[in-house]
Amino acid sequence: MITINRDHQAAESRQFDLIIIGAGVYGVALALVSAEAGHSCLLIDQKDFGWATSYNSLRTVHGGLRYLQKMDLPRFFESVGERRWFMQRFPGLVTPLPCLMPLYGNGMYRPAVFRLALTLNDLLSMHRNRGLDQEQRLPAGRVLKPEEVIRLFPSVNRKGLKGGALWYDGGMPSSQLVIMEMLAQACQAGASALNYTRVTGLIKENNVVRGVEAVDTESGQHYRFRADRVINAAGPWCRELAKCFDRDDPALFRYSIAWNILFNRPALSSHSLAIKPNLPDARMYFLHGWHGLIMGGTIHEPWPGVSETPMPEQESVQRYLDHLNHAVPGLKLTTKDILHIYSGLLPVKKQGGNTLTVREVIKDHGANGGPSGLYTVSGIKFTTARKVAQKTLKIIFPGDKPVQYRDMGDCSFTHPGRFAWDWQPHEHDRSRQQQIESIIQAQSVVHLDDLVLRRTTIGDNPARALRAAPVLARVFGWNTDREQREIELLRDYFQRRNSRHY
Ligand SMILES: Cc1cc2nc3c(=O)[nH]c(=O)nc-3n(C[C@H](O)[C@H](O)[C@H](O)COP(=O)(O)OP(=O)(O)OC[C@H]3O[C@@H](n4cnc5c(N)ncnc54)[C@H](O)[C@@H]3O)c2cc1C
Repeated sequence: MITINRDHQAAESRQFDLIIIGAGVYGVALALVSAEAGHSCLLIDQKDFGWATSYNSLRTVHGGLRYLQKMDLPRFFESVGERRWFMQRFPGLVTPLPCLMPLYGNGMYRPAVFRLALTLNDLLSMHRNRGLDQEQRLPAGRVLKPEEVIRLFPSVNRKGLKGGALWYDGGMPSSQLVIMEMLAQACQAGASALNYTRVTGLIKENNVVRGVEAVDTESGQHYRFRADRVINAAGPWCRELAKCFDRDDPALFRYSIAWNILFNRPALSSHSLAIKPNLPDARMYFLHGWHGLIMGGTIHEPWPGVSETPMPEQESVQRYLDHLNHAVPGLKLTTKDILHIYSGLLPVKKQGGNTLTVREVIKDHGANGGPSGLYTVSGIKFTTARKVAQKTLKIIFPGDKPVQYRDMGDCSFTHPGRFAWDWQPHEHDRSRQQQIESIIQAQSVVHLDDLVLRRTTIGDNPARALRAAPVLARVFGWNTDREQREIELLRDYFQRRNSRHY
């Protein structure tokens, strides 16, 4: 197992090529790409790795079908290439995801239109399976007859059903383990990473970047880390940091909230369903089967500014439930069915709107009158984080040669973090306990919720996680007070994100 060392002193004693602020998927991808290109880098997060927006995605690694609609071919090809990268690099964690959209013959949603779109999609993505193992390959899409749709999705609204579109994307049910796997591979390639360390200032000499000031939020100890280049990859916080280090720039991030809901109801199909209620203000929604339950999303709405736990308004949630109930006869979802709300902030074109930006922003502050050696990166999709990292590195180190894909052999995690949905700790299960102990030791686990939510899948099932919490807390060897505090923190986290909130 690869070790992620939380060693501030060691990091302070070194001169890095690069410091990356923010360990969401964008920061982690930057660490991976730069370490593999041979640059020494330090990745820093104010909380835990991947705790913020990146924890809340719908877990789809998108190909480009949606971009074909607008004939945005650059974005289409980028997405297809990145989906292939994820599927090749993280087999078992990123797998084929069959998607099904019932068609009722309204506007674009006609079998004839989709026959054409799916053919074009397959033609333009003909290299989508290059280098992939057999079980990772994505079959061609096709249009289904109404009876096939009914077989795959028995509760589909049959009135006016003309058929269905079937295509394949990538799914990453345990996206938190994908992030940890990326980070492990980055550390294997030489990156250093510190969680619970907040960057508080930029160190400059004559407007040239020399490093960052940071505080270990656990010990309160202050540090100065040295590098001549700093990348601000702080997701929704990137604009605040840019303001503090240079000046405000609204183009970096205009805020919106996006959210998914996990319902305590059996999945409606083995396929991920794309459904569009026939209502004026309804969008296309996806209903994934996740751990055998319905995970519905994604809803996008305006949001005023940066916040740690953005949560949708009660009326918005109710409207979403009404839309789903309208689209699927007999569904009858209520707020009592909500197990967990996954929500985060995403950049939109216009403040106060809900239309996502189309392209990432990579800003070279030095080239715009700010500190030389400072860069800000702000992206839109989990899927394209590695591509954006490559583009950023190309700007920072224009002389770099492209890095060949390296076989990671046996150096990656063997996914010890995967736990069955109803797993419970037993005192006698020594092997599972040893596995948990080694995760705690090797993967920079500081708090109970790091272990439960981001190093394992235990927290996917909130009720089980809370039942297991006292036994898991004991493994850390804390005193009783600390154990209680950690369990309370976890309980508080789940309570803020479930139906009791509404
Ligand atoms: C509901 C929802 C569904 C989505 N579904 C999908 C999907 O299916 N597929 C897809 O491809 N994409 C999806 N996305 C988009 C994707 O999740 C995001 O684009 C991506 O996670 C953004 O990652 P990030 O690294 O930029 O930000 P974050 O994950 O928010 O990371 C930013 C990090 O910066 C750190 N930070 C901030 N300030 C400081 C500081 N001063 N010092 C140190 N660290 C700091 C924060 O602690 C945080 O960890 C979805 C997003 C949402 C919200």
